Amino acid sequence: MSSGLDQIRDGGKRALAHALSRIEAEPDAARTIQLLDAAYAAARAHTVGLTGPPGVGKSTLTGALIDHWRTTGRTVGVIAVDPSSKLTGGALLGDRTRLRTDPADRGVFVRSMAARDRLGGLADLTISALVLMRAVFDLVLVETVGVGQSETDVTSAVDTVVLCIQPGAGDALQFMKAGIVEIPDIVAVTKTDLGATAARAQADLAAALDRREHAPGDWAVAALGVSSLKGEGVAALADLIDRHGAHLASMLAARRHGQAEQWLAQFVRERWGREGLKRAGALTLGAGESPFARLVALGLE
Ligand code: GDP
Repeated sequence: MSSGLDQIRDGGKRALAHALSRIEAEPDAARTIQLLDAAYAAARAHTVGLTGPPGVGKSTLTGALIDHWRTTGRTVGVIAVDPSSKLTGGALLGDRTRLRTDPADRGVFVRSMAARDRLGGLADLTISALVLMRAVFDLVLVETVGVGQSETDVTSAVDTVVLCIQPGAGDALQFMKAGIVEIPDIVAVTKTDLGATAARAQADLAAALDRREHAPGDWAVAALGVSSLKGEGVAALADLIDRHGAHLASMLAARRHGQAEQWLAQFVRERWGREGLKRAGALTLGAGESPFARLVALGLE
């Protein structure tokens, strides 16, 4: 029986939107699991997390990156995780329409999701959507508001994490004090068109990053200036993202395997609580084994 993945690839954005709605409506249905298993096995995209505080320029930068990637012929899926709480009832779609893409372009797809009403965690559906879109596009970008937990959540879901920092008095210093420097693979200092403050933020960060020790062969986190409005630094950022992808190449399978085991434990804990987690025993996955199928196999009810 077909998993439906081919129909989604052939059917374009409508088919993908429909599939995501169905996953949301029927998360446990056999066909949902079958689709996610097939997608899990067919991963092809480089996945990138773009995080940072509200107003730093993430949406604008996402738009600029999309434009860049599309002109270089690469297809892009975007998951914009909205920080709205349960109380406001779902994603603030109005807010996200700032990200305008060409509806006729089959090579770009944007999906907004509401973050769960807990410490900034990734949206319920984020992992499923990420896995599905990872099988469809060349790049998948997950945009999240970087406050607390969501920063660590995004790292545990994607291949490359880009942290956006806004130039301004104290920002870079705060960043260093908070020890956030450990989290990202790339730091983007946004709004470099603002002049001296941006240059200073970039210099502060570069100095802090230079002081970090790293083993030879390890990835060196770099601070890079971008102005999405002027289009400056965007190609360089895209290039650095590619270079991080190439750097990961030999470790990517192991990293994704570890992430999938983390998701499985997270799914089990969310569904059956700590008790279920205890009863499930060791949640290790075999090579290439999908966490979705395993969740069904566990059937702890
Ligand atoms: P987000 O909340 O992180 O997604 O930030 P937005 O992308 O919505 O941007 C917040 C504000 O910063 C908006 O008013 C943007 O127009 C502005 N902005 C974004 N990028 C730039 C930039 O490169 N230069 C300048 N000067 N302003 C920018």
